[in-house]
Amino acid sequence: MSFVNEHLFWYYASMENTQKVVTRFAPSPTGKLHSGAYRTAIFSYLYARKHNGTFVLRIEDTDKERSTKEYEDNIMESLQWMGIDHDIFVRQSENVERHQTILEKMIADGFAYISKEEAKDGSGVIKEIVRFKNPNEDITFHDEIKGSVTMNTTDLGDFVIAKNIREPLFHLAVVVDDFDVGVTHVVRGEDHVSNTPRQILIQRAIGAPTPTYAHLPLVLGSDKQKLSKRKGALALTEYRDLGYLPEALLNMVAMVGWNPGTEQELFSKDELIQEFELSKVQKSPAMFNPEKLDWFNREYIKKLDSAAFWNHVAPWLPSEMSANQDMLIKIEHLLRDRIEKFSDAKELLENEFDYFFKAPTIDTKMIVWKTLKEDPEGLTKTKDYLKHVHELLESIVETEWYSETRVVVMPYAEQEGKGNVLWPLRVSLSGKEKSPDPFELMGILGKQETLARIAAVLD
Ligand code: GLU
Repeated sequence: MSFVNEHLFWYYASMENTQKVVTRFAPSPTGKLHSGAYRTAIFSYLYARKHNGTFVLRIEDTDKERSTKEYEDNIMESLQWMGIDHDIFVRQSENVERHQTILEKMIADGFAYISKEEAKDGSGVIKEIVRFKNPNEDITFHDEIKGSVTMNTTDLGDFVIAKNIREPLFHLAVVVDDFDVGVTHVVRGEDHVSNTPRQILIQRAIGAPTPTYAHLPLVLGSDKQKLSKRKGALALTEYRDLGYLPEALLNMVAMVGWNPGTEQELFSKDELIQEFELSKVQKSPAMFNPEKLDWFNREYIKKLDSAAFWNHVAPWLPSEMSANQDMLIKIEHLLRDRIEKFSDAKELLENEFDYFFKAPTIDTKMIVWKTLKEDPEGLTKTKDYLKHVHELLESIVETEWYSETRVVVMPYAEQEGKGNVLWPLRVSLSGKEKSPDPFELMGILGKQETLARIAAVLD
């Protein structure tokens, strides 16, 4: 075997003689990294790590028209964010000379030939394309997910492997690059099954071993249709920017079409590495359910300590609220309970929890409990209830405020009707149809603010 890079040579020279697992993820940088593709990356990665193997990241950028640096950066950034670290990095376009050398050798050995053909664009130009001399055999290969697969290659004819002697095409490049880094397991999407016989023919021609294949079934949306952006399948970096945790995505995506056969759903990266088996990947298409992702994210948010939680929320804090650290800490449990992703914090703080930061304007129609609405005396009665509650609360010593509000107010509310008393109290504090119960609100707002808000309503 000859090596493109010297470091690869030394890498292999230093390896024991045992066959080490080598997997690769080989995205084309023609778009941001999306869910079907990052599942492939995760499975390929987990398999390598489980077997103390090598994980190769290969950017397949030979299609110059569609590949961009921006997409390559996106792929790298996404994998790094998820903690999918690679041992070897290859940029396919940098191996072109090596592909050419192999191509020339294939022609010299009689496995391929130059064919002069008229260009398909009708220009009449004659091109020298390179075709593979197809032996027209049945090709059988082992697939860890599909089992034994046999395909007849006669229909493929003498397929094209290079646009010309200097421009080898996809199949040749993939085979050579896999060979050069010693890939033992090709984990990739099912859309590549039909490419496999061609690639195996090329392997045989150049004396490369055939790796074990694992073609992963499609990833569908929860409606069983092809995944699309509209249906919630975002690029990894878009999930990141919405405030999802990488641990949650890794865990969730790893379980799209795979599970270890137990009830356990939450797995750290190390646990995934330990449990992962290619043979347990399901054969039928798997579903990516964005709601499930929200569930995972909530679970991982629960695990964060307070400092980490606020670090993640920080970018989403409305500026006037971020100055009020005391209040933020007091409502941390409410926020944690309600957000699925960190970006939700902004919406929640601005539109729902705004009353924690400034006194609400009260709609007097809202303040009367529903059963008193028809009563002509309803408003007056409500005012009396509130006045009495104000008096009761005033009597509480500040140091006992938190535990005493319920003790003091509840008997009175039970006597007059809970709704009659507690509803206007809660609305006076929050200004909202819905909010946590008045005792929780009073605890958070404190004595002074509570009394001031009730007094303002009485005015
Ligand atoms: N570059 C190919 C793709 O993005 C993958 C090739 C392979 O995994 O063999 O679909």
